[in-house]
Amino acid sequence: MYRASYRPQEVNHCPSCGNSQWMIGRMTAECAFCATALPLVAGGNFGNNVLRKRPLRALAA
Ligand SMILES: [Zn+2]
Repeated sequence: MYRASYRPQEVNHCPSCGNSQWMIGRMTAECAFCATALPLVAGGNFGNNVLRKRPLRALAA
């Protein structure tokens, strides 16, 4: 399952119009052309709202 979200270190193409120019907010990035908003990827620079990565392979043990 793919959830569209904005990755600051990558080129992000708008899922609606295909452009890659964004207005970056605090929580979302908004397409400069059609105003589609994508949530910013959690983690990284924000220390107080980190999503822990859980090892998906734990079940295989
Ligand atoms: Zn767009």
